[in-house]
Amino acid sequence: MPKRMIETSFTDEDIKIENSLRPQFLKDYTGQEKIKTNLKIFIDAAKERGESLDHALFYGPPGLGKTTLAGVIANEMGVNIKITSGPAIEKPGDLAAVLNNLKEGDVLFIDEIHRLSRQVEEVLYPAMEDFAIDIMIGKGSGAKSIRLELPRFTLIGATTRAGLLTAPLRDRFGIISRLEFYTTDELTSIIKNSARKLSVSLDEEGAREMARRSRGTPRLANRMLKRVRDFAQIRSKDGTITKEVADEALDLLEVDKLGLDITDRNMLLAIIENFGGGPVGLETLAASLGEDAGTIEDVYEPYLLQNGLINRTPRGRVATKTAYEHFGLEFIEK
Ligand code: ADP
Repeated sequence: MPKRMIETSFTDEDIKIENSLRPQFLKDYTGQEKIKTNLKIFIDAAKERGESLDHALFYGPPGLGKTTLAGVIANEMGVNIKITSGPAIEKPGDLAAVLNNLKEGDVLFIDEIHRLSRQVEEVLYPAMEDFAIDIMIGKGSGAKSIRLELPRFTLIGATTRAGLLTAPLRDRFGIISRLEFYTTDELTSIIKNSARKLSVSLDEEGAREMARRSRGTPRLANRMLKRVRDFAQIRSKDGTITKEVADEALDLLEVDKLGLDITDRNMLLAIIENFGGGPVGLETLAASLGEDAGTIEDVYEPYLLQNGLINRTPRGRVATKTAYEHFGLEFIEK
């Protein structure tokens, strides 16, 4: 079991089950309508011209479907996908090896692309632009550079915030899209599809309750489904997930009605109780919670901002009236 229910990064269990739940084609990919509409046009146009798709960058909080979308694009284009990540490509030579193994039209997916080193990025620029890399042969005064032609491939990068990328790298993507949190309706439909694939029985209200508490995130929705399924097996008459079963299970897992978990609540309460409702600077807040500032910014904050529980001001984070009300606390206008 993941350390925290709303842990949005991968756990081993996720990897196994996620692969079986990932939608394969655009028609099965729920939500993100604007991105899908645009992608469909780009994909159809590229296919008609017999070309590879433009390089694409997807950004947004973890678990919203960036990796899944890369797989969907490869399937729609009818090409292979090679999956790697920024931290896994340590040296320019590592990248050269990956690039050299690609076939015409293939998709190269680099997760956490903002974590590539400068030297590796330098190799990526000509690869993206000219489909070629320059390799140094030999050492010292006898060293010379030779140009290696690459097949025309599509780079798909994923990151939590587009602002984390250097400008030259960002500028080389033809398609840049931000993934949005999913609506309750969309998550309900994702949960129902997953339940079908996992042979879990659930009713509409059970699915809806889990959707409401999934923080707008498909990865969490699927994880919740698995947890609640175990619970239903023991507690429910025929193993069906009803609203009552979902409610009881999620209360036990300490995920509240808004999908907030203990860290979210601690963060809001720290702003309210320790910093008089804010404004409090990100670093100060992070230190008081013993959390990493980057994690707060990429993982926790986006959902709290989206739901109007906090505001970001030039002087720091502020808890809103909605946040006070969520805890049954009185809000005094400053
Ligand atoms: P990210 O790469 O943004 O962290 P993933 O693509 O790994 O997120 O998505 C996490 C899981 O959520 C996937 O395994 C998939 O089962 C599910 N998922 C994500 N997006 C969708 C979607 N649009 N429709 C259905 N399921 C989705």
